[in-house]
Amino acid sequence: MLDRYDQRLRQLESLLRISRAITAHLDLTSVLNLVIEVAVDLLAGNSGLIALRDDDGVTRIYAASGLARETWPAFTDLLATPIDDQPTLVRRLREVGADIGLPLRHVSALPLVFRGATVGVIYVFRAALNVEFTAEEHQLLTAFADQAAIAVSNARLFQSVLREKQHLDALIENSADGVMILDSRWRITTFNRAMEQLTGWSREEAIGRPCAEVLAIHTPQGANLCLTDCPLQRQPFEPNPVAEGWITTRDGRRLYIQSRYAAQRTPQGAFLGAIANVRDVTEQKIEAEMQNTFISVISHELRTPVSIIKGYAETLARQDAAWDAATLREGLMVIIEEADRLAQQINTLLEASRLQTDGMRLELSDWPVRPLVERVVERFMPQAGERFTFEIDIPDDLPPVHADYERTRTVLENLVSNAIKYSPNGGLVRIAARVSGDYAIISVSDQGIGIPFEEQKKLFRRFYRVDNRLRRETQGAGLGLFLSRVIVEAQGGRIWVDSRPGRGSRFSFTVPLATPMLSDRTAAPEAPSTSSEGTSEPPAMLPPYTEPPLLEDHEQ
Ligand code: ADP
Repeated sequence: MLDRYDQRLRQLESLLRISRAITAHLDLTSVLNLVIEVAVDLLAGNSGLIALRDDDGVTRIYAASGLARETWPAFTDLLATPIDDQPTLVRRLREVGADIGLPLRHVSALPLVFRGATVGVIYVFRAALNVEFTAEEHQLLTAFADQAAIAVSNARLFQSVLREKQHLDALIENSADGVMILDSRWRITTFNRAMEQLTGWSREEAIGRPCAEVLAIHTPQGANLCLTDCPLQRQPFEPNPVAEGWITTRDGRRLYIQSRYAAQRTPQGAFLGAIANVRDVTEQKIEAEMQNTFISVISHELRTPVSIIKGYAETLARQDAAWDAATLREGLMVIIEEADRLAQQINTLLEASRLQTDGMRLELSDWPVRPLVERVVERFMPQAGERFTFEIDIPDDLPPVHADYERTRTVLENLVSNAIKYSPNGGLVRIAARVSGDYAIISVSDQGIGIPFEEQKKLFRRFYRVDNRLRRETQGAGLGLFLSRVIVEAQGGRIWVDSRPGRGSRFSFTVPLATPMLSDRTAAPEAPSTSSEGTSEPPAMLPPYTEPPLLEDHEQ
């Protein structure tokens, strides 16, 4: 009687140990090892094992007591035997015993069942010949089978949660958008790779910091929006608030970003945390601003000639006035000139929009550079008047180029027109050409207002105009250099600028030579850039350009 009581106590103690182990750690193997060890001990067995059915339907041994790991493969047939077929089970066990050199004679096997599903089997083996497992002992094993089943299902649940988490982590990490997760104190707990690239903050530095520090979104007035108008604190709470504005990245870039938040709150509205989706929309912002500028510039550009034409036409049409022939002619000349200007503006606009949709069709032929340059200079002479001097610097032996003549003329006209437009005090305009590798470099230098370095890269974008006094005083839509870049690049060349504020500018572009200069063949300039940025630097591989950078320097 006492024996039975003792045994019951031991059993309870063991079960308690096992349940503690189950709650203390989620390592399945160590829990199963404990279960089988205790079960073998309590059932006075010699050995035992726990086999689980894996997701692929195969049953594998996960833990054993008294059986070396090398012997496990010998149990394959036994594991495949239905456990309610006791005679076969015993026969197979004895075969295994003979196989591995262990006296295995009796077996008690029970399924591990959790919520109605069998997840595996627990086996306890005995060596003594005539000591079979009693029904009571079999019953005792049930408690261990139940515990093992709980451990297995816990571990599998944990595994699947872990897998889900890994899946989510990978999704967040590889998202093209910046993603960061905030805790209830607005501190960053997750910071993905795109976020690192966007903000210039490394994950190690960003995690743990307040998001208002790492992603300090500023209003156009310069206030930190995250501190003055945190989108997650706006009242009433918005389900998915958005904040957008400028940030300065850790490495000094200025970006316009858009950040969308999904907040988690208690039913009372207390903030529990949020996930933020951050996008760099600088390009779109600049584009939108340029479109706005463009609309105002273009309406002004088109309206001016129209009102001049209308004014002159109305005056000339007045019935109460008798105009002499000279006045009439003068008035009509103005109307013609303004109509021409209007037509030219419309052409430029059409060209720009056509380029966007169709690309460019070129009519290539071989032609010498000098006559083109002379033609362009002649055209600008009247407009340049006394204030400008033109200089053409082209060696007589410059070989012909292979390009679209009319389009190249447009480029040169744009550059010469700008040289005049942006030189309020007049001065020298020099057009030079020389050979470099398989290309001719044509350049237009002026002694005008020059261009700040940080603006130089942007000049070749659509609608871009430098914001200075002359921008308001001169006409233009910021399309000339954009069109020039597209033409030059379509011909396989490059266009760039050297300039310093107050010291003039030199715009240069390359045109392919009709016959490549085999003897002088240095590396050819790289393929035309397809970026929308344009470039302000000469192709890296062109030999140094020996002409003094700017006219003013040259004169000093
Ligand atoms: P637009 O002259 O119609 O404004 P462009 O595309 O030809 O458009 O030129 C873009 C901007 O580049 C101009 O608005 C001007 O600010 C600047 N720019 C172009 N050429 C010169 C130059 N030679 N000197 C100074 N600034 C220039």
